[in-house]
Amino acid sequence: MYQKNRAWVEIDLENLKNNIRQFRKILPPDCELMPAVKANAYGHGAVPVSLELQKNKVENFCVASAEEGIELREAGIKGQILILGYTHPRLFPELCAYKLTQTVVDEKYARVLDQSGKKLSVHVGIDTGMHRLGERSTDTEKILNMWNLKNVRITGVYSHLCVSDGSTEEERAFTQRQIKRYDELIRTLHYAGITGFQTHLQGSYGVMNYSDLHYDLARVGIALYGTLSSPEDVVRSRIHLEPVLSLKARIECIHLLHSGERVGYGLTYTAQKEMKIAVVSIGYADGIPRQLSNKGYALVNGQKAALIGRVCMDQLFLDVTNISPINPGDEVVFIGESGEKKISADRIANWAGTISNEFLSRLGARLPRVTILKT
Ligand SMILES: *Cc1c(COP(=O)(O)O)cnc(C)c1O
Repeated sequence: MYQKNRAWVEIDLENLKNNIRQFRKILPPDCELMPAVKANAYGHGAVPVSLELQKNKVENFCVASAEEGIELREAGIKGQILILGYTHPRLFPELCAYKLTQTVVDEKYARVLDQSGKKLSVHVGIDTGMHRLGERSTDTEKILNMWNLKNVRITGVYSHLCVSDGSTEEERAFTQRQIKRYDELIRTLHYAGITGFQTHLQGSYGVMNYSDLHYDLARVGIALYGTLSSPEDVVRSRIHLEPVLSLKARIECIHLLHSGERVGYGLTYTAQKEMKIAVVSIGYADGIPRQLSNKGYALVNGQKAALIGRVCMDQLFLDVTNISPINPGDEVVFIGESGEKKISADRIANWAGTISNEFLSRLGARLPRVTILKT
């Protein structure tokens, strides 16, 4: 069926390939990518994205849940799939059956995994300062004890940086402390005769801002999709990323308003003069946040059109007074290029008061993901 009907997402796999190459260029030669394809690959579509990554010799993936891991296995993903979060013991048989690698979220959970009697592959999460998952890096006793468990096979030890996107002196110092704590723990493990596990610490910003680090895997997410989290971010490494995702919808109809007439739910926008408005077939159920009401713009035929009125569930309004030609059925670009102009995911996310990671991962399930492969 025709997919570019009312609202859709376009995925440019050529740009994804570019971003893979760019990351491989700045990573040490023996460090492998372990892309984060959680949350439907940040809204891009976990299966098509992972299949393309696999085609490009990516052999490690991270997801948020067992369900996401199973989806990838059923689609034919062969490499290591690490679940970054909690899995209920009722699903431990699935971890085994689908050969998924589970994160050990703390010492207690390590024992639960062990007592299941299943031979499970795990990566041990280590807390170096974020206080999300893992035992404290300094609780070496608790961490070392995990190697005495009979059923869990520890194939990795990792931690997570929480201010690696920051460039203030304080944020850089905190990140250096996290790196030091992680390295010290790894040294302690080696000293105790424990080897043969993979190390990883960096996400996108960890790689882009601390590219001299040297671990086995790099868990890149947002930047692999070709966008920064926020338009204000500056990164220290030279990397040329291309946006993978475009977000588009169509003009349903065009109205002329008289001065003083008001628009949409709550009548929050008032025409100050004669104006032309367009109703567009996309709304908050598709992932355009209601916070964008009366904020930002979209592109129509290479020109900017301001969002006016409240964003509805399935529709929104644009001021198209100065745009011509313009017709019902025309494409409206929310993320991507139109003529000479473009809007990046971090930009529209910023208008909505958030980061591209959240904006993209909340794109609606009803948007078809149309993959395009330029040749
Ligand atoms: C989501 C996530 C990543 C990827 O982060 P990006 O900033 O998108 O690159 C890496 N590691 C962990 C533990 C995560 O939860």
